[in-house]
Amino acid sequence: MSNLIIETHNLDFSFKEFKALSQVNLQVPEGSIFGFLGPNGAGKTTTIRILLDLFHAKPGEIKLFGKSYEENRKEILQKVGALIENPSIYKHLTGRQNLEVIRRMVDVPKARVEEVLKIVRLVDNADKKAKNYSLGMCQRLGLAAALLTDPDLLILDEPTNGLDPSGIIEMRELIIRLNKEHGKTIFLSSHILTEIEKLATDVAIIDHGQIMYQGKLEGLHSSELLELKIELNQVDAAANILKGLNYTISEQNGRSISLPIETKVEVAKINKALVDADIEVYGLKTSAETLESIFLNITKKLDQ
Ligand code: ATP
Repeated sequence: MSNLIIETHNLDFSFKEFKALSQVNLQVPEGSIFGFLGPNGAGKTTTIRILLDLFHAKPGEIKLFGKSYEENRKEILQKVGALIENPSIYKHLTGRQNLEVIRRMVDVPKARVEEVLKIVRLVDNADKKAKNYSLGMCQRLGLAAALLTDPDLLILDEPTNGLDPSGIIEMRELIIRLNKEHGKTIFLSSHILTEIEKLATDVAIIDHGQIMYQGKLEGLHSSELLELKIELNQVDAAANILKGLNYTISEQNGRSISLPIETKVEVAKINKALVDADIEVYGLKTSAETLESIFLNITKKLDQ
């Protein structure tokens, strides 16, 4: 098994009375692009703040590079680069000058500024004032700043948020390059499934502060789930029967109910249960679940 770069154990976090995180256990393997996926308000930024030692989980344990913050804070933070929402950039300075300001703070050789400009492909625009940068260029400048110390781990909170399609593609390519060519482990949050799908090797899905799935992206894909659509009368009565059988309804309208099932054997059982209850079944159709519906089902569970 590969080394874990991030490992958390039962993280809980509350904002006063509001419990934002509950028993969050994450295992981020070395060399992965780890997609941290969840709808708005799920607890992604809160988790990231805890990972960066900006918030403190109570209770909960966290280890980065196998070490805890209590005794190794400086050592850990030297190996972590972060981009949380909009990077702080001096708009009246050029890209290169912005990096020079940060380079002095983090105390790395002057040549590193040119290296990171090259990595994020900002060399040609390095002497433009940041106020004239597109949002995508600002994000790449923020990432360049995070790369100055040559960290082993990058933590990126919604790095493609607000970018136009070409900015999204550039950022995506950059993330893949940083992982493949520069060997960085990347922890990346997003509420956009397709974004994670295109980038991640590993994924955790968070909703209402709880981890609902964690593992390889393929694991989510190859899950044997099928979607069953049933056309019938008495939709509400049928929904109650199905819930009683521990199914999660993914869609319901006046004429049909859709739900995830694991094997086709269940189709016959469900049909029998409905017919036994005098519900008229007009049609039963199964289809492979899309990743999107898997995600919806996972994140819907806590709403019920
Ligand atoms: P988004 O993608 O919308 O930023 P998120 O997954 O990053 O969502 P968080 O920002 O971690 O979610 O928020 C988790 C929950 O905690 C949300 O319900 C949010 O409203 C709440 N929350 C966040 N910050 C605070 C705060 N300072 N005080 C009270 N509640 C907060």
